[in-house]
Amino acid sequence: MSEPSIFTRILQGEIPGEIVAQNEHVFVLRDIAPQAPVHLLVIPKTQRYRDVAELAAGDPALLAEVVAMAGRVAAEHADGDYRLIFNTGAGAGQTVFHVHAHVLAGGLEEKRLVG
Ligand code: AMP
Repeated sequence: MSEPSIFTRILQGEIPGEIVAQNEHVFVLRDIAPQAPVHLLVIPKTQRYRDVAELAAGDPALLAEVVAMAGRVAAEHADGDYRLIFNTGAGAGQTVFHVHAHVLAGGLEEKRLVG
């Protein structure tokens, strides 16, 4: 069994964090260093999957739950439009190897990454 990730430790109440939503399988944490007016992390409660590729291969239904929860919290915390980012690998900026989706929302019209 690997060491608990920082997200697992927050979920278990060992260290502080603002959990804004959860269900049986996923929880939503407000990012401590927001990159947008709304910046939330949708995180499976299991830390079994390191990144989105492992999650997609190992439990596609859980990945679908992550995406569904992203839409739900984007509607609750912004206007329902959002950007969904999975940093995958250290070279792409991933720092926590417990899969999580970044939900960025609110005032992003002028900040297009692509297109
Ligand atoms: P990544 O770089 O894609 O692995 O994303 C990790 C994210 O976790 C970063 O956006 C961090 O700001 C965020 N983060 C790290 N520690 C905490 C914490 N204690 N509470 C909330 N968010 C955190």
